[in-house]
Amino acid sequence: MPQFIDTAKIWIRSGRGGDGKVSFHREKYIASGGPDGGDGGRGGSVIFQVDDNLSTLMDFRYKKKYTAPAGEPGGSRRCTGKDGRDLIIRVPRGTILRDANSGQVIHDLSDNEPFVAARGGKGGWGNTHFATPTRQAPRFAKPGLPGQELEIRLELKLLADVGLVGFPNVGKSTLLSMASAARPKIANYHFTTLVPNLGVVSIGEGESFVMADIPGIIEGASQGAGLGHAFLRHIDRCRLLLHIVDAAGSEGRDPIDDLEKINSELGQYSIDLEKRPQIVVANKMDLLGGERAPLDAIRKWADEHGFAYAEMSAATGQGVRELMQQTWHALEQLPPVIVYEPEFVPEEAKPVTEADIDYVKQDDCYIVSGAWIDRVCSSVNFDDYESRQYLDRRLRAAGVFDRLEEMGIQDGDLVVLGEMEFEYEH
Ligand code: GDP
Ligand code: MG
Repeated sequence: MPQFIDTAKIWIRSGRGGDGKVSFHREKYIASGGPDGGDGGRGGSVIFQVDDNLSTLMDFRYKKKYTAPAGEPGGSRRCTGKDGRDLIIRVPRGTILRDANSGQVIHDLSDNEPFVAARGGKGGWGNTHFATPTRQAPRFAKPGLPGQELEIRLELKLLADVGLVGFPNVGKSTLLSMASAARPKIANYHFTTLVPNLGVVSIGEGESFVMADIPGIIEGASQGAGLGHAFLRHIDRCRLLLHIVDAAGSEGRDPIDDLEKINSELGQYSIDLEKRPQIVVANKMDLLGGERAPLDAIRKWADEHGFAYAEMSAATGQGVRELMQQTWHALEQLPPVIVYEPEFVPEEAKPVTEADIDYVKQDDCYIVSGAWIDRVCSSVNFDDYESRQYLDRRLRAAGVFDRLEEMGIQDGDLVVLGEMEFEYEH
């Protein structure tokens, strides 16, 4: 039996961009041609996609690292490097991605739109891009940009309109199998349902809803005593609950006591869940032999709690169609399924700007550092004069020298810039 895994932690990394190429056009009998180094390819992205064939996060228990390939470097003759292939990670519908550190929601995979969680690094420009009238033979190119890394917590919260709740063996799976094409396991022993089952209930032309059968809630579930706690998460976004109860008390339990217990479990999990609209469904009425008293007691309990009421025999099918109609009408009055809004923007996705430069003065030494500096320096070939000139212009444009002047720098003072050191000259 597949074990139900509904949370997982994984690590993803998109591919680095390929480096730009330094090369010059060569042809027989032509002394020296112009630059023809191509651009690097983009690194592969890591993309999440809903797959309705999946119902658990089990795959993520065995594989935790997901890395998209890098882009290929540029080639001669303006050849652009191949892009790295995107890595597609398939997840069940309703999977929520959270930043593993902060717990904030990155994305809710409820619809069919693919979601790019880590974008591949851009490829670097080949030296072709750096040719100008005064610099006809640029001997530098840009390296590709790094990919993004992220630790992600996956959390499955089923996407269903209706959640079936109730003690084990009250007939939840039976109802689902009668009302939809889903074929959940049905047996008269507890914990038969270890994997939530989703079924589509068709009411008429274009009228349908999704119903989820989650494993039986057991007492103390909301305190993590049993299986139930994890499963309550799955009805968290259901719009309506069908609270099934064994009206005949065929397992020696008292139906009213059952209703109270389940409701208190819901309440301990969240106030929201306790207040969620319910239809209280008295099941197994075929076992009552026409006796009304237990049904009336259940109806009274439902009234007192502001819930709707229905009765049926899931096994014989009596009342099932009516219940599904009633459910449909109730859903028409209710807001749509909850979808979680993103709260988190991955750090790496924020653009690096001049505002990210740090200046520190130590004696006669000026230290300039930060993400922007690292990025600019990584695209410079320090052995090449023109490349250094290029760096000089970038620094000047970013106001680095103005800032150092303001700080009181004198000719001959040492500047430490990223991994490079030089003496300042006005
Ligand atoms: P679940 O644990 O709530 O999913 O309960 P199941 O649907 O697996 O049903 C538990 C047992 O109760 C099974 O043996 C069913 O055949 C039986 N059952 C379910 N509904 C009815 C009903 O309306 N009448 C009778 N007599 N038995 C039922
Ligand atoms: Mg069941």
